[in-house]
Amino acid sequence: MTTTTLASPVQYLKGVGPARAAQLDRLGLRTIRDLLYYFPRDYSDRRHIKRIIDVDPGQTVTIMGEVRSARVMRGRGGRRYFEAVIIDDSAVIYATWFNPQIVRHAIKEGVHLVLTGPIKFVKKLYITQPEYDIVEPDSDTEPDECDEPGDAGADGRRKRLPSARSGVRTPSSAPPEAVHTCGIVPIYPLTEGVYLKGLRRIIKRAVDAFADQVDDRLGPRITAKKCLLPVAQAIRNIHYPSDDLLLSGARRRFIYEELFLHQVALALRRRKMRAEKVLHRLEISDTMDARIKARFPFTLTRVQQRVIAEIRKDLVSEWPMNRLLQGDVGSGKTVVALYAMLVAVGNRAQAAIMAPTEILAEQHFQNVSRYLAGSKVRVALLVGSLGRKERDAIIAAVTSGRADMVIGTHALIEEDVRFSRLAVAVVDEQHKFGVLQRADLIRKGLAPHVLVMTATPIPRTLAMTAFGDLDVSTIDEMPPGRGKVTTVVRSTATIDRAFGFIREKIREGRQAFFVYPLIDPSDKLPLESATEMAERLRETVFPDLKIGLLHGGMRPADKDATMRDFRNGKVHVLVSTVVVEVGIDVPNATIMVIGHAERYGLAQLHQLRGRIGRGAHESYCLLFGDARSPEARSRLSIMEKTTDGFKIAEEDLRIRGPGEFMGTRQHGLPEFHAADIIRDFAVLREARDDAAKLLEEDPALAGPDHAALKSSVSALYSDRLSLGAVG
Ligand code: ADP
Ligand code: MG
Repeated sequence: MTTTTLASPVQYLKGVGPARAAQLDRLGLRTIRDLLYYFPRDYSDRRHIKRIIDVDPGQTVTIMGEVRSARVMRGRGGRRYFEAVIIDDSAVIYATWFNPQIVRHAIKEGVHLVLTGPIKFVKKLYITQPEYDIVEPDSDTEPDECDEPGDAGADGRRKRLPSARSGVRTPSSAPPEAVHTCGIVPIYPLTEGVYLKGLRRIIKRAVDAFADQVDDRLGPRITAKKCLLPVAQAIRNIHYPSDDLLLSGARRRFIYEELFLHQVALALRRRKMRAEKVLHRLEISDTMDARIKARFPFTLTRVQQRVIAEIRKDLVSEWPMNRLLQGDVGSGKTVVALYAMLVAVGNRAQAAIMAPTEILAEQHFQNVSRYLAGSKVRVALLVGSLGRKERDAIIAAVTSGRADMVIGTHALIEEDVRFSRLAVAVVDEQHKFGVLQRADLIRKGLAPHVLVMTATPIPRTLAMTAFGDLDVSTIDEMPPGRGKVTTVVRSTATIDRAFGFIREKIREGRQAFFVYPLIDPSDKLPLESATEMAERLRETVFPDLKIGLLHGGMRPADKDATMRDFRNGKVHVLVSTVVVEVGIDVPNATIMVIGHAERYGLAQLHQLRGRIGRGAHESYCLLFGDARSPEARSRLSIMEKTTDGFKIAEEDLRIRGPGEFMGTRQHGLPEFHAADIIRDFAVLREARDDAAKLLEEDPALAGPDHAALKSSVSALYSDRLSLGAVG
C-alpha cells in the first residue's frame, strides 16, 4: 500500500472519485498540495449566530435552529422547491431551496441546523437558498472556538457547535462537522460544474489531514527572519481562519512567499544571462558619440539623452545588456536604438534590428537609410518577400561581415542566418516579451547586447514582476513638434454626426482610420463590423473618396498592399480591425475613429490612438461606444483626460488586473494565488530587495539554510523561466 502524500492525486482523498477529480482538474487542482494552495478569494464571517427574532429582511445572516417540518412545495408556475420550518428559542423562520433533490435527504424533522443566507419577508420570514450545516443540538457538545465570548454575552445565549477546526472527530454516528456555517468560512473561485459546498468539503478534508505535512518553501530561517506564520498554521488559517489576526498573518505569509520565490527565480535568471561575457567588447569615444548624434536631423530630447547614457553604460560592459526600452508610440525609441546599433558598427561589429512585420522592417530601413545617407555604413534589409538570389546575397553579406547593419523580421534569428560579429540586437514592438529571442541568440553562440523596445507602457509593478530580470529604460516625454491630439467619447448612435467633420479634414488633405472590433457581421454580437462600415462609407457616406479595408483575415501580401496605399496617400480612409495596432507611421493620418470603444482595454485604445498625432497637424481621436455601467463610462473618459500612456496603463491594470492587461497567458506572468501585484506592491519591492540580497550572499543557493528555497524555486519556475537546473 502506498501512503498518501501531498503529491498524491486528489482522488486519494475520501469522497473524491474520477468525476470529481475531472472537475477539480478544470481548476488546475490535481494533487492534494494543489488543494492546499488553492486559496479563498474571499471569506464570509459566520461567527455571529443571530436569534431568529433579531434578523431583518435584506441582511445575510447566520442562524441556528431545529427543523420542525420539511417538505417539497409547488410554487407559482408549478416549480418545485423545498421548504423547511426552522425554530429557535425566539421565533420561526422558513428556509427555502430551489432544488429539492439536493436537500430533501438531509433536512428532516428534528435535525438541528446552522444556516447562512439572505433574509426575505413575503408575508412570512424566509431565509432563501441558505448554506447549511447539520449540527448537534446545543446540550451535549463542548464549546469551541466558534463560541465568540463577546457574541455569547450579547444576548446571554450560548451557542454550541461541534468542533469545526480542532480536528477532533466524534465517532461516525455523529453528524458531519460544520464546514459551511461556522466561523470565518472560505469562498473559493469556482468554475462550471464545481460548487462551493463540495469544494469546501474537499479542501477542508485535505487541510485537516495534510496541513502538517506541508513543507516550508522558504525554509525555517527565512520564515523566522521575516516573522512569518509557520506554514502549517498559515495553511489552516488561510482556509479556515481562527480569527482576523491569524487570517492576516496567513495571507501575509503567502503573499510574501509567492512574490519572494518569483523574485528569486528572476534574480537567478538574470545571473544566468549575465554568465556569458560578450564576444565583442565595445568602446565609445567622444568623437564616435558626436559623429553618431550628428546623423540625426534633430537634437535629441533630454529624455533620449538620459536613456542613451543608460544604454552606453551597458554597452561598454563585458556583460551583455538585457534592457527593455519602453515609451509611447512615436516617443523616439527607434532613434535611441539606432544609436546603440551605430556604436556596434563604429566598433567594426554588426547590429541587427528585428521588427514584427515586413512593413515595419521596411519603415525602419527607409528611416535608417535616410539618417545614414552618404555614410559608409552598409545596411541590409532581409525580408521574406525577397527573391531567392537577392536573399542569398544578403545572407552571404551578413555571414561574411560585409553587412554592418541588418534590418528584418524575426526570421532574422529564427532562420539560419549567421552573423560574423553581432554585437547589438534590437527587438522592436515586442508584445510577447520574455527570454525567447534572447534564448535563441544565446543558442546561436552569440551573446550580443539586447535591447527590446515596446510601445505598450508597462506599469512599474508589472515591469518588476514580469521582467524583474530586465533593466528598464523609459522615454516618458514626446519629442517637440507634435500636433495636439484631442479625444472625445460619444455614444455609438451619434457617429453620423461626425462624418461632416471627417470629410472636412480629408478635404484639407488629411487621412482617417476607422477601427472596428469584428471583421464581419456576427449574429451573436449586435456590433457593426469593419466590413459593414467600409461598405457604408464607400456606398453612402464618402462615395467620392477612396476607402480601404484591412483585417487579419486577409492574405499578408494584400494587407501590405493596402497599408502601403494608405501610407502613400492613395487611400483616404482605412477601415480595419485592430491589426493597425503595430507601429505603422502615417504622419498625415490625423483622425482615429474607434467603434464600440467600450470593448477595448484602455491600453489598447491608447495604442490605437498612437497611430495619429505623429505629424504636425492637430489630430482627433473619436471614441464611439455605449458604456453600460458608470465604471465603464468613467473608464472611457480617462481617455479624454490624459494622453499619458503610463497613467492609462496603471489605470487599466488596476481595473482589469494583470492577466487581462497583458493579454492572457502571453505575458509570462506567473499566476499568483495570494498576491496581487498592485495591492501588494510594497511587499513586492521588499521581496525583490530580499531576493537580491540573498543571492549576493549565496549566489547558487548552496547553503543548507537555502535547500528548501532552492528546490521550491526550481519546482515552480525552472520550466517557465527556462532556468534549467537552478544554481
Ligand atoms: P518610436 O520608435 O518610439 O515609435 P521613433 O523613434 O520612430 O519613435 O520617432 C518617431 C518620430 O519622431 C520619427 O519621425 C523621428 O524622426 C522623430 N523624432 C525622434 N526623436 C526626435 C527628436 N528628439 N526631435 C524631433 N523629432 C524626433
Ligand atoms: Mg516605432
